[in-house]
Amino acid sequence: MPIDDAGVATGTAERMAETRARQEVLETALAMSRRGLSPGRSGNVSRRFRDGMLITPSGMAYDAILPHDIVFVADDGALAPGARKPSSEWLFHLAAYRARADRAAVVHTHSMHATVLACAGKSIPAFHYMVAVAGGKNIPLVPYATFGTEELARYVAKGLNKRDACLMANHGQIAMGDTCTKALELAAEVEILAEQYFKVLCLGKPVLLCDAEMKTVLARFKSYGQSAQKINAQK
Ligand code: 13P
Ligand code: ZN
Repeated sequence: MPIDDAGVATGTAERMAETRARQEVLETALAMSRRGLSPGRSGNVSRRFRDGMLITPSGMAYDAILPHDIVFVADDGALAPGARKPSSEWLFHLAAYRARADRAAVVHTHSMHATVLACAGKSIPAFHYMVAVAGGKNIPLVPYATFGTEELARYVAKGLNKRDACLMANHGQIAMGDTCTKALELAAEVEILAEQYFKVLCLGKPVLLCDAEMKTVLARFKSYGQSAQKINAQK
């Protein structure tokens, strides 16, 4: 692939693929912000791209970001000359991709109820079968560490090792997906579950589903929905 001095692909097809990938990150970040899933300039979005990732720039108002403001960060943390400063959380985005070779996009948000639970030191247990949407019997909470640090990146990688989403103490939540759209959809689902769990807690002690039932739900989720080979297995 032809590459110029700034590390940008110069071939037409490569340029078009890069522009589409930048737009995808930007549109996902805008959707996250406009849907009220992360207040102000909080949160960040990335997707795998070539030997690294494309990630939102740090501290910019979402509606002021243009496709060329999205930052390419190589797997070793290298930036192209002249690029914007990447999200302060680029370390945990790279750590998430390292932990999950099967996922290609990350959405981090400070969504209201997920953040409230995370600040109260609460994970989301099996109060509703839909917690299985994150890939397990609960949505875990990872310990607090200062934003942007390697320590936080280590916690996040551990939290996402066996789940597609987790809460982050005194901070927010993070979700992964095969695509930016799926990662955002999961972040939105985690927020709904957090709101429901918060409301259930207001009524008293939640009734939790047992591990055996969550195992059944997780198995059933594998054949849920519209993929062709799964129609009979659902019965
Ligand atoms: P950035 O603007 O640097 O991505 O920071 C937002 C955030 O949520 C930090 O955790
Ligand atoms: Zn954050």
